[in-house]
Order: sequence, then structure tokens, then C-alpha cells
Amino acid sequence: MTESMTTPTSFSDLGLSEARLAAVEALGWKEPTPIQVMATRHLLDGADVVGIAQTGTGKTGAFMLPSLELIESGKGLQVLVLCPTRELAQQVSDDTNDFAKGTNLRSASIYGGVAYGPQLEALTSGVEVITATPGRFLDLMGRGKAQMNSIKVLVLDEADRMLDMGFRPQIESILREVPRNRQTMLFSATMPNGVHDLATRITKDAVWLEVAPSGTTAEGISELVYSVKPEKKPDLLLSLLSGAEWEHVLVFTRTKAGADALKARLDRQGVKTDVMHSNLHMKARTKNLERFAKGQLRVLVATDIAQRGLDVEGITHVVNYDVPLDPEDYVHRIGRTGRAGAEGTAVTFLTAGDLGAFKTIEHRLGRRIERIHLAEFDYAGTPQADSSSTSKRGRHSRSPRGMGSRLKEELTPEELAELLKHS
Ligand code: AMP
Repeated sequence: MTESMTTPTSFSDLGLSEARLAAVEALGWKEPTPIQVMATRHLLDGADVVGIAQTGTGKTGAFMLPSLELIESGKGLQVLVLCPTRELAQQVSDDTNDFAKGTNLRSASIYGGVAYGPQLEALTSGVEVITATPGRFLDLMGRGKAQMNSIKVLVLDEADRMLDMGFRPQIESILREVPRNRQTMLFSATMPNGVHDLATRITKDAVWLEVAPSGTTAEGISELVYSVKPEKKPDLLLSLLSGAEWEHVLVFTRTKAGADALKARLDRQGVKTDVMHSNLHMKARTKNLERFAKGQLRVLVATDIAQRGLDVEGITHVVNYDVPLDPEDYVHRIGRTGRAGAEGTAVTFLTAGDLGAFKTIEHRLGRRIERIHLAEFDYAGTPQADSSSTSKRGRHSRSPRGMGSRLKEELTPEELAELLKHS
């Protein structure tokens, strides 16, 4: 059975304990994500679960919040989570300790490339949850350091990546030592045959869940995110525009002043640009749109008034110069490219201050968009600056409904009709 649904509900409807509800509240999470709603109920009912969900969908909470309800402190290792990378193992362990606040449950992570000492200590000190990469865990297990017979919950996180990385033999060896009467959860972003077979073999009567992305985007659009310092945005855009394939570019800014400033900057660099926002008279807007549609302008800088009404063919690139405040706007903005089956690219400029808002967008989309870090523009100068698997920043993202006030400009229906007529 594959279940797919997005019924809105609150954390208190999920059957979680007071301690867990308090922990979730302390994290600032207002409402559960779809995978959290679906998985929690089944896991608390004792079912095995196979979840097709990507990072960014809240899957860690989906398996760990209920797992913590199924175990008791002081009874040794009871939850074993296998992850493909040390960063993910660390992050899941950090999340677990956040979820376990107010209780005596403890979590530790185990991964290769670091000294054995502290990990051995953690493993033998009776922590209830271990998050581990398969290689190092197998190593310690083989030395008899892991108490396997108390394990009640086994989680394979990002199973597809673990198999891609060649961890199948280690996983199989570990599986042989985990008690059979456990509860098993497997999460994977994709479901190739290898993962499907593994999932079927290691689970019993599992409920199969799939996150239905609420804001699916048009096919043919490739999405990229550049991490950038705010003051470097114009330079990053100019550098991208030096690519000849950037023929017909629609740029979204959050404010009218921002649009005007960017036009001035691009003009100075000889890039044919105009703007589209509500300070312009209707006639001027229509004229700019026509010039853009005819290819007389290479770049149109617009505020959100343009996003739904604008249906120009052949837009090669959409740039979210500023991250939209509303996930819906993201979907509509990037839908301006890739129209009528054409290929298009949507690029988002992500500053450190936008991480929370952007993660909310990724939640809604049900997927994580690849970050690109170019040393000269990157806000932190390190390749992992905003990786959700390596940094705690932005982890307490706002709930989709908790968005702040929107700066979006509205068009009157007449204006919209007029725009559509001319586009
Ligand atoms: P995950 O898919 O588990 O890696 O989660 C991605 C990000 O979403 C992390 O930063 C989490 O802290 C955050 N997150 C998970 N669930 C929620 C929720 N219900 N509300 C707000 N943020 C969440």
C-alpha cells in the first residue's frame, strides 16, 4: 500500500507525549509536515514504515519523534539509525537530543574518520539512541562493543544513498545482529529496485508512505541555488549573465526600489534591462513587457506583480534575486520559464538571512535543491556553510503557515487582464 496525503493537523493530534510536544514547541515547529503526520501515527501503532521522502521534508522528526516514544531510558541501546554520511549521523543525533529534551534519553553518533575513544565510551555508556554510518558501526559491533539484543527500532535513513555508496555488505552484517522482533523504518528519496528489494525484505507488512509535494514545479525546469553575500548579488548576476545561454532573463526582486537599483546597475554594464512593478503606469508596464517578449530587452527585473500574469515564451532563466517570502510564489515565479515544454533554468540567490524562509519553501516542495558555493560570492566562504546536514543554522525554520507579512504587490483584476492581453 502506498499512502499519500497532506491533511493538515497539529502535533497534539499525533499521539505524542507531553515531553515531545514541549520539545517540538521549543524548536519553534508550529505544525507537522506531511511525512510527520503520516509516519507518526503508523509508527506509534507499531507498524513498520517505508517512507519515500527527501531531506528537507522533515523526515528526521517523522521517524525519531515516535521512536523516542517506543523506548525507555536506562535500558541500553534501543534505536539504531544507519545513515550514509557522518554529517547526517551527527545531525540526526543532534536532532534526537533536541527531541529528547526534558527526558533522560540520550543519543550519540558514530562515524569513521575520527578517534575511537569517545565513540566507544558513548557506545558502552548505555545511550538509548545511536546514529551511525555503517562502516564504523560494524567495526565496533564486530569488537563486541555494541549491545545489539536490546535494539527495538532500526532505521535506515537515506537508504538509496547508502546503497549507492556501497554500504550494502555492512548493512547486511549489521542486520543479522539486530533482533528480529524489532520495528523497522526505511527512508529513501528514491526507490530504485535495490532499495525496494531491501525494504521488502527487512520490513514486515510495512506501510509505504510517499510525500506528495504540494508545490510541484513544471517539468523541464532545472533549479539551482547560489549561496551569496547580499552585497555580492549584483556581481553574481553579472557573472551569470556573461554566459551566452542567458538570453532572456526574468529577475525577481522583493521591492520596487530593489528592482530600480538593479536596472541601473545592469544598464551601467551595458545589459539591456527594464523593470516591471506597480510604480509604473500601465502603459509603461505593457511597453516593457512587449520589448521583453520581442527580445529587445535581455533582462526584465520584476516584483511579484509579474509572476502570474507574465506568460512570455522563451524565458531561458528566472532569477530569484531575493528569496520569495511565500512558497507559492517560488513555484509561480519559476514557472515563468520552461513554458510549453521548453527547457528552463531557475536560479535562487540565497543569503544567510534567507535560510529559514528557503527551507520552508523546500518543505513545501518536498525536496532539497542543490546549493552552489562559489568562493568569490559565497556568504561564508566554505562549501558547507548552509548545508542542513552540517550546520545548525536555520534548523528552526518557520512553519509554512507562520510566514511573516508579505511584501507582495497585488494587481487589480483589470491590470492583470490587460497584462495577459499583451503578453
Ligand atoms: P529533515 O528533512 O528532517 O532534514 O528536516 C529539514 C529541516 O526542516 C530541518 O531544519 C528541520 O529542523 C526542519 N523541520 C522539520 N520538521 C519541521 C516542522 N514540522 N516545522 C518546521 N521545521 C521543521
